Amino acid sequence: MNLILLGPPGAGKGTQAVRIAERNRLTALSSGDILRGEIRAGSDVGQRAAPFVQSGGLVPDEIITAVMLAGLRRLPAGQGFILDGFPRTVAQAEALTAGLAAAGIRIDAVLNFHLDDAQIVRRIAGRRTCGSCQATYNVHFLPPRSPDVCDRCGSALVQRADDREDVVQNRLATYRQQTAPLVDYYRKIGLLKNIDAAAVPEHVEQQVARVLDGLGG
Ligand code: AMP
Repeated sequence: MNLILLGPPGAGKGTQAVRIAERNRLTALSSGDILRGEIRAGSDVGQRAAPFVQSGGLVPDEIITAVMLAGLRRLPAGQGFILDGFPRTVAQAEALTAGLAAAGIRIDAVLNFHLDDAQIVRRIAGRRTCGSCQATYNVHFLPPRSPDVCDRCGSALVQRADDREDVVQNRLATYRQQTAPLVDYYRKIGLLKNIDAAAVPEHVEQQVARVLDGLGG
């Protein structure tokens, strides 16, 4: 099974990607996590991507497309995957469609996470990320067992620099202009499945499970 997660920042895609991957033995590839890793490592890609990530804009299509297609090519043959945060523009979606078709791979479903703007801002304001293992929490919806401490590895939780209010507004504007058109792109090719992302994570997970069961294996 090969899946794409679509939706605004803060809709819970990262949390669900991890859960869906565990349940279905898929490999989750998060473009944001990959870029943040490249930036931390100071790599060439990281240095080129950093200004775009910091401002809440999009990294140029050719950079992110090359990174993600290379990540997909590294998967063992037949390994199912779930893409979180990629594609984010129609040009990226077209490059992905072409790259997968060349490898004889098809996407089974695109899960479109719906959330209204007020909830997006509240979610992102409450989001905390582990500085070591990158696990994500939310002080409102998915709190860690002890405040500001990662359940998984015990490190301190921090707020992502691009989760600050001014950058979030930019990320939302970028989403509306450049990523929202992908909803139509995937609806037209019959892959779109809508998910109500306003529910608590367990209910979102149940909706996703029902959609995946309905795919008929
Ligand atoms: P995310 O963690 O998915 O919210 O991504 C964080 C940031 O990484 C975004 O605000 C963009 O600057 C950059 N980014 C992630 N995925 C992409 C993509 N598919 N295309 C362009 N930029 C991206």
